[in-house]
Amino acid sequence: MNGVRYLAARALLTLAAWLLLTECRSLAQESGLSAAPSIDPAEKVPCKRQLNRITGAIREYRKDHEGRLPDRLADLTPDYIHDPRVLVCPYVRSRGGLRTWKRQTAELSVDAYSSYHYEFAQDPVDAYRWRGLPKKTWQEAKARLENMWGDVVPIVRCHDHDPRLNLAVGGPIYESGRNWEENFGKRAEFSMTFANLFPSPEATEGLGPKDFPPRDPCAPPQLLDLTAYYNAALTNSWQGFGGNDLASLPTGIRKFDGVQFDVRGVIQLRGTQLPAMYPWRVDDIPVRQKCARIFSTPRVGFILPAPLRRATRYITRTARFRRFPSFTACTLPTGGRGLSNRTL
Ligand SMILES: [Zn+2]
Repeated sequence: MNGVRYLAARALLTLAAWLLLTECRSLAQESGLSAAPSIDPAEKVPCKRQLNRITGAIREYRKDHEGRLPDRLADLTPDYIHDPRVLVCPYVRSRGGLRTWKRQTAELSVDAYSSYHYEFAQDPVDAYRWRGLPKKTWQEAKARLENMWGDVVPIVRCHDHDPRLNLAVGGPIYESGRNWEENFGKRAEFSMTFANLFPSPEATEGLGPKDFPPRDPCAPPQLLDLTAYYNAALTNSWQGFGGNDLASLPTGIRKFDGVQFDVRGVIQLRGTQLPAMYPWRVDDIPVRQKCARIFSTPRVGFILPAPLRRATRYITRTARFRRFPSFTACTLPTGGRGLSNRTL
Protein backbone atom coordinates (compact mmCIF):
# COMPACT_ATOMS: atom_id res chain seq x y z
CA MET A 1 0.00 0.00 0.00
CA ASN A 2 2.93 2.33 -0.77
CA GLY A 3 3.75 2.83 2.80
CA VAL A 4 0.34 4.09 3.60
CA ARG A 5 -0.66 2.70 6.81
CA TYR A 6 -3.67 0.57 6.15
CA LEU A 7 -5.44 0.82 9.37
CA ALA A 8 -8.79 -0.66 9.91
CA ALA A 9 -10.58 1.15 12.65
CA ARG A 10 -13.16 -1.23 13.82
CA ALA A 11 -16.17 -0.63 15.84
CA LEU A 12 -19.32 -2.33 16.73
CA LEU A 13 -21.95 0.06 15.62
CA THR A 14 -25.22 -1.62 15.65
CA LEU A 15 -27.34 0.87 13.96
CA ALA A 16 -30.94 0.57 13.24
CA ALA A 17 -32.83 2.67 10.83
CA TRP A 18 -36.38 1.87 11.22
CA LEU A 19 -38.64 4.10 9.33
CA LEU A 20 -42.30 3.84 8.95
CA LEU A 21 -42.71 6.72 6.62
CA THR A 22 -45.58 5.08 4.95
CA GLU A 23 -48.76 6.22 6.44
CA CYS A 24 -49.72 3.56 8.87
CA ARG A 25 -53.02 2.94 7.38
CA SER A 26 -56.00 1.80 9.22
CA LEU A 27 -57.75 -1.38 8.35
CA ALA A 28 -59.24 0.64 5.58
CA GLN A 29 -56.31 0.70 3.27
CA GLU A 30 -57.71 1.50 -0.11
CA SER A 31 -57.21 -1.27 -2.56
CA GLY A 32 -58.40 0.46 -5.66
CA LEU A 33 -60.87 -2.26 -6.54
CA SER A 34 -63.76 -1.31 -8.66
CA ALA A 35 -66.90 -2.05 -6.66
CA ALA A 36 -68.25 1.16 -5.26
CA PRO A 37 -69.67 1.36 -1.76
CA SER A 38 -73.29 2.26 -1.36
CA ILE A 39 -74.06 5.87 -0.56
CA ASP A 40 -77.78 5.17 -0.13
CA PRO A 41 -78.70 5.58 3.55
CA ALA A 42 -81.51 3.07 3.10
CA GLU A 43 -78.98 0.36 2.28
CA LYS A 44 -77.54 0.70 5.76
CA VAL A 45 -80.71 -0.31 7.53
CA PRO A 46 -80.62 -4.06 6.76
CA CYS A 47 -76.84 -4.06 7.25
CA LYS A 48 -77.22 -2.58 10.71
CA ARG A 49 -79.79 -5.25 11.45
CA GLN A 50 -77.28 -7.93 10.56
CA LEU A 51 -74.55 -6.28 12.57
CA ASN A 52 -76.86 -6.37 15.55
CA ARG A 53 -77.39 -10.08 14.99
CA ILE A 54 -73.65 -10.56 14.81
CA THR A 55 -73.05 -8.70 18.05
CA GLY A 56 -75.68 -10.88 19.74
CA ALA A 57 -74.02 -14.01 18.36
CA ILE A 58 -70.61 -12.88 19.57
CA ARG A 59 -72.07 -12.27 23.00
CA GLU A 60 -73.50 -15.77 23.11
CA TYR A 61 -70.26 -17.24 21.82
CA ARG A 62 -68.31 -15.55 24.60
CA LYS A 63 -70.69 -16.88 27.22
CA ASP A 64 -69.96 -20.40 26.03
CA HIS A 65 -66.20 -19.90 25.66
CA GLU A 66 -65.18 -18.30 28.96
CA GLY A 67 -65.20 -14.82 27.50
CA ARG A 68 -63.06 -15.68 24.52
CA LEU A 69 -63.82 -14.06 21.19
CA PRO A 70 -64.21 -16.15 18.04
CA ASP A 71 -61.10 -16.48 15.93
CA ARG A 72 -63.08 -15.38 12.89
CA LEU A 73 -66.69 -14.57 12.08
CA ALA A 74 -67.22 -17.89 10.32
CA ASP A 75 -66.75 -19.57 13.71
CA LEU A 76 -70.17 -18.17 14.67
CA THR A 77 -71.90 -20.43 12.17
CA PRO A 78 -73.90 -22.56 12.49
CA ASP A 79 -74.23 -22.62 16.29
CA TYR A 80 -74.66 -18.90 16.89
CA ILE A 81 -75.66 -17.70 13.43
CA HIS A 82 -77.72 -20.31 11.67
CA ASP A 83 -77.95 -18.53 8.35
CA PRO A 84 -74.47 -17.90 6.90
CA ARG A 85 -75.89 -15.12 4.74
CA VAL A 86 -75.95 -12.97 7.86
CA LEU A 87 -72.18 -12.67 7.44
CA VAL A 88 -72.63 -10.99 4.07
CA CYS A 89 -73.80 -7.40 3.86
CA PRO A 90 -77.28 -7.23 2.22
CA TYR A 91 -75.96 -4.63 -0.17
CA VAL A 92 -73.28 -7.09 -1.28
CA ARG A 93 -75.86 -9.83 -1.65
CA SER A 94 -78.01 -7.56 -3.81
CA ARG A 95 -75.04 -7.08 -6.11
CA GLY A 96 -74.43 -10.76 -6.71
CA GLY A 97 -73.00 -11.92 -3.39
CA LEU A 98 -69.48 -12.89 -2.47
CA ARG A 99 -68.74 -14.48 -5.84
CA THR A 100 -68.82 -11.19 -7.66
CA TRP A 101 -68.01 -8.95 -4.74
CA LYS A 102 -64.75 -7.05 -4.68
CA ARG A 103 -63.33 -5.95 -1.38
CA GLN A 104 -63.15 -2.21 -0.97
CA THR A 105 -60.28 -2.33 1.45
CA ALA A 106 -57.43 -4.54 2.52
CA GLU A 107 -58.46 -6.81 5.36
CA LEU A 108 -56.54 -7.59 8.50
CA SER A 109 -57.39 -11.22 7.91
CA VAL A 110 -59.31 -12.79 5.09
CA ASP A 111 -62.54 -14.58 5.81
CA ALA A 112 -63.85 -16.15 2.64
CA TYR A 113 -67.32 -16.53 4.14
CA SER A 114 -67.96 -12.93 5.06
CA SER A 115 -67.99 -9.49 3.50
CA TYR A 116 -67.57 -7.95 6.93
CA HIS A 117 -64.19 -7.07 8.30
CA TYR A 118 -63.57 -8.76 11.61
CA GLU A 119 -61.06 -6.72 13.55
CA PHE A 120 -60.32 -9.22 16.30
CA ALA A 121 -59.13 -12.14 14.19
CA GLN A 122 -56.75 -14.56 15.80
CA ASP A 123 -54.39 -14.29 12.85
CA PRO A 124 -50.80 -13.27 13.52
CA VAL A 125 -49.72 -9.74 12.80
CA ASP A 126 -47.17 -9.52 10.03
CA ALA A 127 -43.54 -8.94 10.93
CA TYR A 128 -43.70 -5.55 9.29
CA ARG A 129 -45.81 -4.23 12.13
CA TRP A 130 -44.54 -6.25 15.07
CA ARG A 131 -40.92 -7.28 15.38
CA GLY A 132 -40.91 -8.50 18.95
CA LEU A 133 -41.37 -11.84 20.60
CA PRO A 134 -43.66 -13.53 21.18
CA LYS A 135 -45.65 -12.85 18.04
CA LYS A 136 -48.85 -10.89 18.37
CA THR A 137 -52.26 -11.48 16.89
CA TRP A 138 -54.75 -8.90 15.71
CA GLN A 139 -57.01 -10.00 18.51
CA GLU A 140 -54.33 -9.20 21.10
CA ALA A 141 -53.64 -5.85 19.49
CA LYS A 142 -57.27 -4.81 19.29
CA ALA A 143 -57.89 -5.98 22.85
CA ARG A 144 -55.02 -3.77 23.94
CA LEU A 145 -56.51 -0.88 22.02
CA GLU A 146 -59.86 -1.54 23.68
CA ASN A 147 -58.15 -1.28 27.06
CA MET A 148 -56.66 2.03 26.04
CA TRP A 149 -59.57 3.66 24.24
CA GLY A 150 -62.60 1.85 25.57
CA ASP A 151 -65.32 -0.14 23.92
CA VAL A 152 -65.71 2.21 20.96
CA VAL A 153 -63.12 0.13 19.16
CA PRO A 154 -64.87 -1.59 16.23
CA ILE A 155 -65.08 -5.33 16.28
CA VAL A 156 -66.77 -5.61 12.88
CA ARG A 157 -66.74 -3.10 10.05
CA CYS A 158 -68.67 -2.89 6.81
CA HIS A 159 -66.75 -1.00 4.16
CA ASP A 160 -69.49 -1.39 1.57
CA HIS A 161 -71.16 1.83 2.62
CA ASP A 162 -70.02 5.37 2.50
CA PRO A 163 -69.63 6.36 5.29
CA ARG A 164 -68.58 3.03 6.77
CA LEU A 165 -70.53 1.17 9.42
CA ASN A 166 -68.69 0.15 12.57
CA LEU A 167 -69.97 -2.29 15.14
CA ALA A 168 -68.26 -1.27 18.38
CA VAL A 169 -67.08 -3.79 20.94
CA GLY A 170 -69.58 -2.21 23.30
CA GLY A 171 -72.47 -2.92 20.93
CA PRO A 172 -73.45 0.41 19.32
CA ILE A 173 -73.11 0.87 15.58
CA TYR A 174 -71.63 4.12 14.37
CA GLU A 175 -70.61 5.61 11.07
CA SER A 176 -67.16 6.83 10.21
CA GLY A 177 -64.81 7.59 7.39
CA ARG A 178 -62.04 5.24 6.44
CA ASN A 179 -60.31 5.86 9.76
CA TRP A 180 -62.80 5.30 12.57
CA GLU A 181 -60.21 6.63 15.01
CA GLU A 182 -60.85 10.15 13.82
CA ASN A 183 -64.39 10.04 15.25
CA PHE A 184 -62.76 10.07 18.66
CA GLY A 185 -59.99 12.54 17.99
CA LYS A 186 -57.43 9.76 17.71
CA ARG A 187 -54.86 9.04 15.10
CA ALA A 188 -55.12 5.92 12.98
CA GLU A 189 -51.35 5.82 12.80
CA PHE A 190 -51.23 5.31 16.53
CA SER A 191 -53.73 2.48 16.64
CA MET A 192 -51.98 0.61 13.85
CA THR A 193 -48.49 1.05 15.23
CA PHE A 194 -47.96 -1.97 17.37
CA ALA A 195 -44.99 -0.52 19.13
CA ASN A 196 -47.46 1.97 20.60
CA LEU A 197 -49.80 -0.77 21.74
CA PHE A 198 -47.08 -2.95 23.24
CA PRO A 199 -44.36 -0.58 24.33
CA SER A 200 -41.30 -2.08 25.84
CA PRO A 201 -41.27 -1.32 29.58
CA GLU A 202 -37.57 -0.76 29.69
CA ALA A 203 -36.18 2.73 29.75
CA THR A 204 -32.91 3.19 27.97
CA GLU A 205 -32.67 6.88 28.68
CA GLY A 206 -30.00 7.79 31.10
CA LEU A 207 -27.77 4.82 30.40
CA GLY A 208 -24.19 5.72 31.15
CA PRO A 209 -20.80 4.12 30.72
CA LYS A 210 -21.25 2.26 33.99
CA ASP A 211 -24.16 0.35 32.47
CA PHE A 212 -21.94 -1.40 29.95
CA PRO A 213 -19.25 -4.01 30.44
CA PRO A 214 -15.82 -2.42 30.89
CA ARG A 215 -13.58 -2.25 27.90
CA ASP A 216 -10.87 -4.86 27.75
CA PRO A 217 -7.68 -3.05 28.80
CA CYS A 218 -5.84 -4.99 26.10
CA ALA A 219 -8.16 -3.73 23.39
CA PRO A 220 -6.06 -2.13 20.65
CA PRO A 221 -6.85 1.46 19.67
CA GLN A 222 -8.09 0.25 16.29
CA LEU A 223 -11.14 -0.99 18.12
CA LEU A 224 -12.92 2.28 18.67
CA ASP A 225 -14.12 2.85 22.18
CA LEU A 226 -17.82 3.65 21.86
CA THR A 227 -18.61 3.38 25.55
CA ALA A 228 -19.66 7.01 25.80
CA TYR A 229 -21.89 6.70 22.74
CA TYR A 230 -23.81 3.53 23.47
CA ASN A 231 -27.47 4.27 24.10
CA ALA A 232 -28.71 0.70 24.56
CA ALA A 233 -27.40 -2.45 26.14
CA LEU A 234 -27.29 -5.72 24.27
CA THR A 235 -30.08 -6.91 26.54
CA ASN A 236 -32.34 -3.99 25.65
CA SER A 237 -35.13 -4.70 23.23
CA TRP A 238 -34.39 -4.05 19.64
CA GLN A 239 -36.06 -0.77 18.75
CA GLY A 240 -38.34 -1.20 21.73
CA PHE A 241 -39.94 -4.47 20.64
CA GLY A 242 -39.92 -6.72 23.68
CA GLY A 243 -38.30 -10.12 23.38
CA ASN A 244 -36.14 -9.07 20.47
CA ASP A 245 -32.63 -8.23 21.58
CA LEU A 246 -28.95 -9.00 21.15
CA ALA A 247 -28.47 -10.59 24.55
CA SER A 248 -27.11 -13.79 23.04
CA LEU A 249 -24.35 -11.96 21.22
CA PRO A 250 -20.98 -12.84 22.77
CA THR A 251 -19.39 -9.80 24.36
CA GLY A 252 -15.83 -8.58 24.57
CA ILE A 253 -13.36 -8.62 21.74
CA ARG A 254 -14.88 -10.85 19.11
CA LYS A 255 -14.15 -11.65 15.54
CA PHE A 256 -16.92 -11.56 12.97
CA ASP A 257 -16.22 -12.34 9.37
CA GLY A 258 -12.52 -12.12 10.05
CA VAL A 259 -12.71 -8.66 11.63
CA GLN A 260 -12.30 -7.88 15.30
CA PHE A 261 -14.98 -5.92 17.13
CA ASP A 262 -15.34 -4.63 20.63
CA VAL A 263 -18.81 -5.92 21.51
CA ARG A 264 -20.27 -4.28 24.58
CA GLY A 265 -23.15 -2.03 23.66
CA VAL A 266 -25.39 -0.71 20.96
CA ILE A 267 -26.01 2.60 19.29
CA GLN A 268 -29.60 2.58 18.19
CA LEU A 269 -31.00 5.19 15.87
CA ARG A 270 -34.61 5.95 15.41
CA GLY A 271 -37.14 5.89 12.64
CA THR A 272 -40.37 7.84 12.64
CA GLN A 273 -42.44 5.61 14.89
CA LEU A 274 -40.40 4.07 17.60
CA PRO A 275 -41.56 3.25 21.08
CA ALA A 276 -38.09 4.02 22.35
CA MET A 277 -37.12 7.47 21.25
CA TYR A 278 -33.63 6.97 20.01
CA PRO A 279 -31.82 9.84 18.31
CA TRP A 280 -31.79 10.49 14.61
CA ARG A 281 -28.03 10.78 14.64
CA VAL A 282 -25.03 10.48 16.87
CA ASP A 283 -22.37 13.04 16.12
CA ASP A 284 -18.65 13.29 16.54
CA ILE A 285 -17.79 9.75 17.40
CA PRO A 286 -14.04 10.06 17.76
CA VAL A 287 -11.58 8.10 15.69
CA ARG A 288 -8.39 10.18 16.13
CA GLN A 289 -6.19 8.02 13.99
CA LYS A 290 -5.42 7.53 10.36
CA CYS A 291 -7.39 4.82 8.70
CA ALA A 292 -8.64 3.73 5.35
CA ARG A 293 -11.95 2.35 6.43
CA ILE A 294 -14.18 1.65 9.35
CA PHE A 295 -15.74 -1.72 9.87
CA SER A 296 -19.04 -1.76 11.63
CA THR A 297 -22.00 -4.04 12.01
CA PRO A 298 -25.04 -1.98 11.08
CA ARG A 299 -28.34 -3.65 11.55
CA VAL A 300 -31.53 -2.44 10.00
CA GLY A 301 -34.69 -3.01 11.96
CA PHE A 302 -36.66 -3.90 8.89
CA ILE A 303 -36.78 -3.18 5.24
CA LEU A 304 -39.28 -0.93 3.58
CA PRO A 305 -40.30 -1.26 -0.03
CA ALA A 306 -38.54 1.11 -2.40
CA PRO A 307 -38.54 4.06 -2.72
CA LEU A 308 -39.11 4.52 1.02
CA ARG A 309 -36.33 2.16 1.97
CA ARG A 310 -33.89 3.64 4.40
CA ALA A 311 -31.03 2.45 6.44
CA THR A 312 -28.11 3.93 8.24
CA ARG A 313 -25.29 5.94 6.88
CA TYR A 314 -22.09 7.34 8.19
CA ILE A 315 -20.80 10.77 7.46
CA THR A 316 -17.09 11.06 7.67
CA ARG A 317 -15.20 14.30 7.92
CA THR A 318 -12.15 13.46 5.92
CA ALA A 319 -11.16 11.79 2.71
CA ARG A 320 -9.68 8.36 2.29
CA PHE A 321 -6.25 7.85 3.86
CA ARG A 322 -6.46 11.22 5.59
CA ARG A 323 -6.62 11.78 9.25
CA PHE A 324 -9.98 10.67 10.46
CA PRO A 325 -11.00 12.71 13.51
CA SER A 326 -14.58 11.63 13.90
CA PHE A 327 -17.70 10.48 12.18
CA THR A 328 -21.43 10.75 12.50
CA ALA A 329 -23.86 7.89 12.35
CA CYS A 330 -27.29 8.90 11.19
CA THR A 331 -30.43 7.77 9.47
CA LEU A 332 -30.36 8.54 5.78
CA PRO A 333 -31.85 7.15 2.58
CA THR A 334 -30.01 4.30 0.97
CA GLY A 335 -30.76 1.89 -1.80
CA GLY A 336 -29.35 -1.05 0.07
CA ARG A 337 -31.13 -3.86 1.77
CA GLY A 338 -29.88 -5.27 5.05
CA LEU A 339 -26.33 -4.24 5.68
CA SER A 340 -23.70 -6.20 7.45
CA ASN A 341 -20.09 -5.63 8.22
CA ARG A 342 -20.18 -2.52 6.13
CA THR A 343 -17.03 -0.60 5.54
CA LEU A 344 -16.61 3.08 4.91
ZN1 LIG B 1 -73.07 -3.37 4.92
